[in-house]
Amino acid sequence: MRLLFTSRSPSDTVAIARALGVGLRPGDVVALYGDLGAGKTLFCQGVGEALGIPPDRIVSPTFTIVTEHTGTIPLTHIDVYRLAGAREADEIGMRELLSGDGVCLVEWAEKIEELLPRDYIQVRFSFSGDDRREIAVVVPDLPGFDDFRAWSIRFQRGG
Ligand code: ADP
Ligand code: MG
Repeated sequence: MRLLFTSRSPSDTVAIARALGVGLRPGDVVALYGDLGAGKTLFCQGVGEALGIPPDRIVSPTFTIVTEHTGTIPLTHIDVYRLAGAREADEIGMRELLSGDGVCLVEWAEKIEELLPRDYIQVRFSFSGDDRREIAVVVPDLPGFDDFRAWSIRFQRGG
């Protein structure tokens, strides 16, 4: 199911991410798409908060591609911006990382699309004003995401 959100501020984006984060389970992969400054890392911080990880631990890495965090579920934050593509990612063990026991967040997921597992969660950002972003979230039609779906309806109504 595809859920559309309008985020009017960084804190809106964090709220959406937290709501998604509380429903995530070990093995889930969240693929994030969107240009530089769209809010991918901020969204990762929100997911991290839902898993008990302080937001300042999740940063935009300059050279690091993979950062592992200890939360209520282990969280692997991956930013493949600096990789050439799927082949290079495969060589550094991306498939193993993506099939681990924790939650995986992947920024610039389009670069490694063919390595993503089935049933991953997609989060697509587009700019719609200075502090405004349209965020489309595709979640699998599984009961685990029922609460997020219900929450999203309230959010979309401005409640
Ligand atoms: P990315 O990881 O996609 O490059 P970041 O999350 O690092 O993006 O940065 C997003 C930047 O945009 C932050 O400086 C944030 O404060 C700003 N921003 C402004 N409005 C929003 C919004 N509605 N959602 C997310 N970020 C926003
Ligand atoms: Mg980023």
